Amino acid sequence: GQPLLQVNDLRKEFPIKGGVFGRKVGSVQAVNGISFTVKKGETFSLVGESGCGKSTTGKLLLRLHEPTDGEVLFEGEDIYTFSKEKMRKTRRDMQMVFQDPFASLNPRHTIEKILTEPLIVHGIGTKEDRKEKVEHILNIVGLRKEHKKRYPHQFSGGQRQRIGIARALMTNPKLIVADEPVSALDVSIQSQVLNLMKDLQQKFELTYIFISHDLGVVRHISDRVGVMYLGHMVELSDSEELYQDPLHPYTKTLLSAVPIADPTVKRERIEIKGELPSPSNPPSGCVFHTRCHACMDICKVEKPKMRELKPGHYVACHLYNDSNVDF
Ligand code: SF4
Ligand code: MG
Repeated sequence: GQPLLQVNDLRKEFPIKGGVFGRKVGSVQAVNGISFTVKKGETFSLVGESGCGKSTTGKLLLRLHEPTDGEVLFEGEDIYTFSKEKMRKTRRDMQMVFQDPFASLNPRHTIEKILTEPLIVHGIGTKEDRKEKVEHILNIVGLRKEHKKRYPHQFSGGQRQRIGIARALMTNPKLIVADEPVSALDVSIQSQVLNLMKDLQQKFELTYIFISHDLGVVRHISDRVGVMYLGHMVELSDSEELYQDPLHPYTKTLLSAVPIADPTVKRERIEIKGELPSPSNPPSGCVFHTRCHACMDICKVEKPKMRELKPGHYVACHLYNDSNVDF
């Protein structure tokens, strides 16, 4: 069927302002021409180091930023062409879950008020309906209805993220963008929240965009993964395929840092060279060339194109040009 999301050559440039007059003195290409599709009901993960553009991409998908160029088709329609009113209605269908639930929950509001707010904003239900919905959703995320009278600080980190997820569910969305939803949580709590998200996905036929700096965290929740580096998508694949056979040198580096459960499997840790370049002054050619162990002459001058090397497995790297392919 039709994908839920189709992202075409998306770009976002942020100006850098400076000097006494606050004029534009430069720019950062936070997102530099990325394309991908997301099927209904799947989890598509965006992975990379901080500053790679994954959070900006997440916000662009919900039109929390305006892009410099490109399209985001939601159920076939470009959201950037929507009127204010149409966008407002569409927002019901797309919600966000944040890394730090504490920062995103108003400390002076009860849980009931926090959860009711999206319903009021979108004019959903009567007072009685809203009350019922709050209790129902609290139950679904593993909290009790008595919790609605409490304030965010009365909950643990894991419970607060359950509340953040509950808030995202209130409008019955189709798409949830979750930006590092478990990164602030203890490892033991992380899997509980990930399992909850998986259950909710089944129950409500949700589509997830899952943003993380950690390939280990996204492994079991992702159907497909896009690896980002300095505003570029460098590899995109089905999740298991990516873990079995990573192609891009950057993906290999990230994966080598993920602990393996099976002690019989040996994987060498690949140390990444050098520092992350400034996004305002990215390297020429392949953006990864200053840190790549496999860098060739062509890499410094020519930007590699995204190519489909195996069905559904895309990579942007000169190692896989026809003349260089050997795998
Ligand atoms: Fe490394 Fe060259 Fe591939 Fe870039 S294109 S990742 S520099 S081998
Ligand atoms: Mg981020």
